[in-house]
Amino acid sequence: MSTVFFASARAKKWRYEDSMPGKLEQLLKEAGLLNYFSPDEWVAIKTHFGSEGAHRTVRPVFLRKVVEALKRIGAKPFVTDTVRIKGLDYLEVANQNGLNHLSVGAPVVIADGLYGKDNIMVKAGDILGQVAVASLIHDVPAMIVCSHVKGHINAGYAGAIKNLAMGGVSSSHRTCGWKCGRGAMHTIGEGELVWDKDKCELCLQCKDICPLDAISFKDEKLEWDGNICWRCGRCERVCQNESLKLPGDDERFMQSLAEAAKAVIGTFEKGKILYINFLTEIQPECDCMPMADVPVMQDGGILVSDDPVSIEQASIDMLLKSPPLPDSMASDKQIKPEEDILMKLHNKPYAIQVEEAERLGLGERSYSLVEI
Ligand code: SF4
Ligand code: SF4
Repeated sequence: MSTVFFASARAKKWRYEDSMPGKLEQLLKEAGLLNYFSPDEWVAIKTHFGSEGAHRTVRPVFLRKVVEALKRIGAKPFVTDTVRIKGLDYLEVANQNGLNHLSVGAPVVIADGLYGKDNIMVKAGDILGQVAVASLIHDVPAMIVCSHVKGHINAGYAGAIKNLAMGGVSSSHRTCGWKCGRGAMHTIGEGELVWDKDKCELCLQCKDICPLDAISFKDEKLEWDGNICWRCGRCERVCQNESLKLPGDDERFMQSLAEAAKAVIGTFEKGKILYINFLTEIQPECDCMPMADVPVMQDGGILVSDDPVSIEQASIDMLLKSPPLPDSMASDKQIKPEEDILMKLHNKPYAIQVEEAERLGLGERSYSLVEI
């Protein structure tokens, strides 16, 4: 049974030690960073930079605390993510969301190059075959995975496994293209984007959100360039009319997340990854959307573990105990306190990603919670 350290978001005493940054410092002491990382060792701090408009990511102050803790033991940290949009634009998004060298106290760099094609092919499993792991994540000897826990339109729940899988793998590989990238998780077959003209109101959101200009409109007809498309699904996700569809399979998607996470973890020696889940600003959607809705439940706190499965299960268990907040998507959907809020928000079998991760040997769902 793995240990998951936890600190609540509540601050009942008016002192620094009761603040969330103060508790994160304490959590990292409890976890014992020297058990995982060595002086002079490069350590990647993997987070999600967010999106223009999606500001509810892991806050810079928390990343700074992680950086400072690593520096205290003499390690050499940097903050990183893979590109979701063009690399230079993504760095600007990071800066806009407050993530830069000055704020976090360490370099903020792209893990798979400004073109998103610096990656190394890694054997995955039966579903994906092989995936293009970002070269920086592949090569660095140690990593702390800092995940913003939230709902997700495709995954139902997004935490450490999704951060590893979607965030550790590039969008495209130089020769294999999207089929070895994260698009291989999003879609099946050739991933042909289907447009339903009758449902389309020509709002052009899909065109505007596409990072590759793969969508255009001519004479009120959508044109899609499947040769350059990453199958990232951003266009499908922003279409509120359900006019766009990338073919997919929910169960396969969840299983492929676990498979890709395993491929990424497999590039590290055992005991070189630590996970921090932030149950903060738990919005219903992915951080790559062009907005972030209000949280659907109250901040829970911060969890730390070296077991990606345990930390996910502990996070989910906490979310399911948290009552839905008023004036949020949860109340729009009339979700009641005792209901499975994650399932009710997006109707996705989110638990499969954790079950599959356990089946693949990434960790165990049973855990022992140690609250500080
Ligand atoms: S986002 Fe949907 S409704 Fe808007 S233009 Fe694209 S397909 Fe049509
Ligand atoms: S899936 Fe949609 S948004 Fe993503 S690259 Fe393809 S056309 Fe663009």
